[in-house]
Amino acid sequence: MKIAIAGAGAMGSRFGLMLYRSGNDVVLIDQWHDHVETIKKNGLKANYNGQEITEQIPIFYPQEMTSNKTQVELIIVFTKATQLEHMLQAIKPLIGIKTMVLCLLNGLGHEDILQHYVSKKNILLGITMWTAGLEAPGKAKLFGDGEVELQNIDPAGEAGAHRMVNVLKKAGLGGIYSSNVKYSVWRKACVNGTLNGTCTLLDATIGAFGATTAAIPILKAIISEFAAVAQKEGVVLNQKEILDHVAATFDPNGIGMHYPSMHQDLIKNHRLTEIDYINGAVARKGRAYNLPTPYCTFLTELVHAEEQILKAR
Ligand code: NAD
Repeated sequence: MKIAIAGAGAMGSRFGLMLYRSGNDVVLIDQWHDHVETIKKNGLKANYNGQEITEQIPIFYPQEMTSNKTQVELIIVFTKATQLEHMLQAIKPLIGIKTMVLCLLNGLGHEDILQHYVSKKNILLGITMWTAGLEAPGKAKLFGDGEVELQNIDPAGEAGAHRMVNVLKKAGLGGIYSSNVKYSVWRKACVNGTLNGTCTLLDATIGAFGATTAAIPILKAIISEFAAVAQKEGVVLNQKEILDHVAATFDPNGIGMHYPSMHQDLIKNHRLTEIDYINGAVARKGRAYNLPTPYCTFLTELVHAEEQILKAR
């Protein structure tokens, strides 16, 4: 299958690499100069579960995606949420009437942006449990296991969704067709909404924040704001299950020893965060539904303040 990976950072590199190695015709698209030039010159390198591999996958800048490039059957978007619209605008010529677009970005509301560029029946929304990192430009670090849960957002897209599930399965990416991906997207956003902003602002590992007496009351407040807004959108979150799930990550000998990815983005790399698509989305939707969301609103404002203090870009 002809597949474009729009945003070939950590996750885009993982998906691009695994799809390429299973025989698909893959192109990577990215705007990060050092990364693109390194891959053009040396191929995409990865530490793949401890094995050093290199694959010569074609990579282009978004502005190179002019109309003379063949349209693709599947586009997997893997920018940060803040870059999605810009990327879609740039790769418009690649999106044909039959092109399916799969979005696995963290956060809420991406389908609203996608619908400006892709017909609704071709939009697939999902979440993934895969993780990925970049060691350097052109070099990914890919460890562990995962899966992808996806669903068409329009009933007319179901056959296409099943086809893409099979492509992902064949690549070892663990494709699963979901009958209620909206729930999964909200649940994942809620989990991210409890720890990303808090640990980033406190400059704390998940375990260090979890060990404070403030953690559980803060988590409960954030989860209840997500649940109230989700309900307005027809999604009933199980607040206790989410709280228990998050609390289980506090173990300082397990996930608790790590910082959430937003901490890495903002505090370590001074990059803009996805807060507007996590707590910020709940704050925005809450205002529209006339629901108070003081914790999500305050967290979003503080993260933006920190972005400005650190001159994040
Ligand atoms: P990423 O930052 O690695 O890549 C996204 C884009 O950022 C790429 O287009 C890349 O060019 C650019 N970029 C990356 N590093 C850069 C740098 N140092 N300087 C300039 N530009 C740089 O993001 P990601 O981790 O692949 O995440 C993509 C989406 O997937 C996000 O929505 C994220 O929340 C989600 N996600 C990530 C993971 C993970 O483990 N990384 C897991 C699940 C979901």
